[in-house]
Amino acid sequence: MLKGRPSSQAVVKKNGLQESILPPGRGGEEIKRVVGRVRAKQERRLEMTQKTALVCGAGGFIGSHLVKRLENEGYWVRGVDLKYPEFSDTAADDFAIGDLRDPYICRHIVDRRFDEVYQLAADMGGAGYIFTGEHDADVMHNSATINLNMLDACHKRNIRKIFYSSSACIYPEYNQMDPDNPKCSEDSAYPAKPDSEYGWEKLFSERLYLSYQRNHGLEVHISRFHNIFGQEGTWEGGKEKAPAALCRKVALAKDGGQIEIWGDGKQTRSFLYIDECLEGVRRLMNSPFSGPVNIGSEEMVTINQLAEMVMNIAGKKLTLKHIPGPLGVRGRKSDNKLIKDKLGWEPTLKLKEGLVITYQWIQEQVQNKGIRN
Ligand code: NAD
Repeated sequence: MLKGRPSSQAVVKKNGLQESILPPGRGGEEIKRVVGRVRAKQERRLEMTQKTALVCGAGGFIGSHLVKRLENEGYWVRGVDLKYPEFSDTAADDFAIGDLRDPYICRHIVDRRFDEVYQLAADMGGAGYIFTGEHDADVMHNSATINLNMLDACHKRNIRKIFYSSSACIYPEYNQMDPDNPKCSEDSAYPAKPDSEYGWEKLFSERLYLSYQRNHGLEVHISRFHNIFGQEGTWEGGKEKAPAALCRKVALAKDGGQIEIWGDGKQTRSFLYIDECLEGVRRLMNSPFSGPVNIGSEEMVTINQLAEMVMNIAGKKLTLKHIPGPLGVRGRKSDNKLIKDKLGWEPTLKLKEGLVITYQWIQEQVQNKGIRN
């Protein structure tokens, strides 16, 4: 499936090199030869200076957006995933379909010394996937195996710089019982007591990455994402998260109707729009700071409030029906003190602005699919 490095043509185009590099006063074959030599030299230089990145999980929500972002920044990008992105073509120069649980595939994918590797591949989903207990063995086995294999392949290929996406789910349950005052500062991770196996695997893998940094000199950067949402994220099927699920339910409901909410809806969360997440990732990668650091929003809402926001955006009045369902902790929000200290930056986009874009996109998906109540 590997397509290899892009042709020098593509590199030339991407870097905006002009055709008109002819020296004045020469003609015919001589000009062609000179042009050929100059161009080959420039292309070689471009190939040498253009940064290369590998994005694992490039067919997923955050990974596919990250590929676009890196391409826009001028990187040559290889993506790898079990699947292509679901909602638009990949922007990657090269995309490999491969299972990263297989160490042979990992070695094959890391076939060169990428300047940067972004490891986002994981077996994951929203509360309906992570908190029911039905997928615990898969989540732990699959994600840990991917991380073990990828780190080993990167170490053997002498990769210097790697990003790992951990999660707010590593934070101990005992600090997140009060919905109004959850504690999620980075230094509160221990004594560890995540409320899901997904969180335990992330914690193990954080330590795995940091031990490769300590023992093998890899430059590691770890973020703990807090509920990332946006367009082109999973919006149905059981793996979707709260913002996407609520946008879908509201888009499907008739004005005056009702939607279902898991639990009493008083559990709190903070949600971060995808563009802000990517800004944080890129800033972290360009900094000397390893983390782990929260990448999330401090704007905390209850799930009921989130539902109200979506209803306002949609211009629908609906009643909320609270039903039993998988919930997770009572309260959670990002603590951005460390990211401000270390990167001099924190996300600022209001939740509502991200929700407007996301609702519009999900409404279109619902319409295109022709689903009706
Ligand atoms: P996603 O499920 O959309 O993307 C993960 C991708 O990994 C999927 O496309 C999946 O096919 C791929 N993958 C799974 N197993 C694989 C395998 N064996 N080989 C190759 N690819 C495999 O999830 P996302 O929301 O884009 O999350 C990306 C990363 O960020 C994950 O590591 C996730 O745990 C982490 N994270 C996300 C959030 C969030 O709110 N989205 C929050 C915290 C942490």
